[in-house]
Amino acid sequence: MDTDVRGRFFGLRPQNDREVVGHNVILSEAKDLFRNRKERKLQAMKNRKYGKPLGNLLAIKSDFFEHNDKMLEMSARQADALIIQKKREHCKICHAPIEGEPLYKSQRMEYYLCKKCGHLNSAKEDTEDFANRVYLEDTYENNYSEEDRERYENRLNTIYIPKAEFLLEELKKDGLSKEKIRLLDDGAGSGYFVGAMRKLEAEASGIEISGAQVEFANRMNGEKILSQADSVDIPGILKSTEANVLSFIGVFEHIINLDEILEAIKENKNVSYVYLSVPMFSMSCVFEASHQKCYNRHAGGTHTHLFSDESLSFMADRMGFEELASWKFGSDMMDLYRMLCVSLEQNGNAALKDYFAPKFLKMIDELQLTVDKNEFASEIHLILKRK
Ligand SMILES: [Zn+2]
Repeated sequence: MDTDVRGRFFGLRPQNDREVVGHNVILSEAKDLFRNRKERKLQAMKNRKYGKPLGNLLAIKSDFFEHNDKMLEMSARQADALIIQKKREHCKICHAPIEGEPLYKSQRMEYYLCKKCGHLNSAKEDTEDFANRVYLEDTYENNYSEEDRERYENRLNTIYIPKAEFLLEELKKDGLSKEKIRLLDDGAGSGYFVGAMRKLEAEASGIEISGAQVEFANRMNGEKILSQADSVDIPGILKSTEANVLSFIGVFEHIINLDEILEAIKENKNVSYVYLSVPMFSMSCVFEASHQKCYNRHAGGTHTHLFSDESLSFMADRMGFEELASWKFGSDMMDLYRMLCVSLEQNGNAALKDYFAPKFLKMIDELQLTVDKNEFASEIHLILKRK
């Protein structure tokens, strides 16, 4: 990530004497920034693990073509909702003013890299009006087949059990055994993570805004593992819960009133650990910016800002927490694979795509591991501990 910031600062070309002075100031500020970042980074990386194999590669298809146009249309509708919002004046995480030139533009939206914390912010703010436009109430049928249940079980086992195991292992190392865990999952969705924690015999429950998802989760798990909570009540719930571990899996990036949520966690001294999974400013952003006819899964849609190691450490600090352990594994190479397949089909090269696809899949885990280890991956799982 530093490479990109460096490129941005050192890429400046002064035009006259006045600008040369400004340029040197920027260089010296940049050096300080890198020094601070390096120190923070070293501290943050004490206990970090990298990579996660994709698993069943045979199940990964290459026919994204039709799907791509539908997803791109959906993303464009979500972009319409963000474009009409007010300009974002301050960084979502550190509140530093957003100024200077954007780092890049993709799918009609400009993105600024915060000079203070490296957080990637869209030029427009994620307001309540934006949320009302893009988050629709899910609807589920009341009749579930055996197949639905199998699919649920399969997703829980392959995706969520590893997330739960990572948390349990790290907490155990830190002296909190499974028996002592009382976990509350916020934004619990369909209850996969709570289900996984309970399957591994830890005490866990969840709250979720969507009543339909709560109903679905409880039905799939055969017991009441989630409760419905309105968004206005969530800060109060977090402030008073007796849980000692809070989890937010793919949630922080969607929270409009993030400051209020962080404050609630800070105030509730029962909470000793916070487990987060958030999207990062990563290689996927570059692939998206260079493939404008391909669906943008990462920046855009409901993702209006993306984290950096520095912004995460800034956020933890604000909450009175610090990093205990982390796990970096991204989907950047899967995004690249998809975009190359779609682009090849778009320009009439389906035969080349079919030749290329299995060759790329053979090396996909290795390539992604390199991205992960170089700290430019699309996702992080992070366990924070109260200081
Ligand atoms: Zn910032």
